[in-house]
Amino acid sequence: MLEFEQAQAQLLEAAGPVAETELLPLARLAGRVLAESVCATLDLPPADNSEMDGYAVRHADLAAGKPLPIQQRVYAGDAPQPALPGQATRLFTGSLIPPGADTVIMQENTRETDGQVEITGEARLGQHVRKRAEDTQAGQIVLEAGIVLGAAHIALLASQGLAQARVFRRVRVGVLTTGDELVAPGQTRTEAQIYNSNAPMLASLVEGIGADVVHVLHARDDEADTREALQTLLRDCDLVLSTGGVSVGERDLVKPALEALGGTLTLWKVRMKPGKPVALAHVDGKPVVSLPGNPVSSFAVFMVLVSPLVRRMQGRAVTLPQVSRAVLRLPAPRTESREEFVRVQRRETDTGAELELYRTQASNIVSSLPWSTGLARLPAGQTLNDGDVVRYYDLAHWLS
Ligand code: AMP
Ligand code: MG
Repeated sequence: MLEFEQAQAQLLEAAGPVAETELLPLARLAGRVLAESVCATLDLPPADNSEMDGYAVRHADLAAGKPLPIQQRVYAGDAPQPALPGQATRLFTGSLIPPGADTVIMQENTRETDGQVEITGEARLGQHVRKRAEDTQAGQIVLEAGIVLGAAHIALLASQGLAQARVFRRVRVGVLTTGDELVAPGQTRTEAQIYNSNAPMLASLVEGIGADVVHVLHARDDEADTREALQTLLRDCDLVLSTGGVSVGERDLVKPALEALGGTLTLWKVRMKPGKPVALAHVDGKPVVSLPGNPVSSFAVFMVLVSPLVRRMQGRAVTLPQVSRAVLRLPAPRTESREEFVRVQRRETDTGAELELYRTQASNIVSSLPWSTGLARLPAGQTLNDGDVVRYYDLAHWLS
């Protein structure tokens, strides 16, 4: 059995970033991963301009303490004439500073009468001038490859005048659920059946992290059926995720099906709870990750073991999101035999963050999932007491 950290590292190495990239317009970049670093082609701001509505002056002209005639009015978007000695330019936020002027007096510190402006307040040399290139210099790398683009990055691209950017194509993921006891939501079920919650759960986990779900298939507990479904998924996808049927029961047919397809199993069982039965195989070079059947185990394994691999395949630079620390609240001391990821709700208190455990931690308890804000990682073989500090994996970070 592999330790969690080893398993995470091994899964992370199961595939590299997708090779293909595409050039997309700004409006389609949100959520996509930048495939090549972006260099600024423009200085930003491109020219000195005013930070305020007011008057541009040559600071030396203020020494006389006299009102200055107004030479010109320059609106944002206008090209100014050079500043004449002893005169002021009326201007506005974003107006270009006339060549020769060096200081802006804000309108609130002036009085304008009969085409002259009197300075009544603060007038430091160079004040309220937004200098050319103070934001960005042409030639500088402004966005690194591997970042996930959001509104902030799109604003920056646009400010450089770029209408498109090169991103990795979306990763295609196939989902397979297994089990004769499962019936699709919306269908009638018999006494012995339960609804298939893993299929829509995994599909939305995959979408939530910014990958495409190509197919969601279900196989009966039958090797040929399982094999056929896996073949379809392998044909159309970069990564295949299966759930259930991967333990040591008589009807656990995912491993034999993978082997029949020529798959080589490179990982099998991880010393963690929930989620011990986890398998990684490669079929024709494509990774297939088999997750446990219990919904909570499946969710947790996707979050801490599979999501880093998806991020890697997406071309992201950061594959392991941040892990924080917080105080664990425990009604009684506990000791784990295997490393355990428990469902917790994180709360801010006056003294810092605290984690409360869900009332039951069995891996079939779906109601614990919407309640939780994250998973706390409890080390094996040591007694944990109320107030101990543990590692915390927040859903907001680990599922995006
Ligand atoms: P298995 O590994 O196939 O034995 O499944 C372990 C447990 O998870 C069993 O109780 C299954 O009924 C349950 N299970 C497996 N797949 C799903 C699914 N897609 N949705 C909900 N429960 C499932
Ligand atoms: Mg099963």
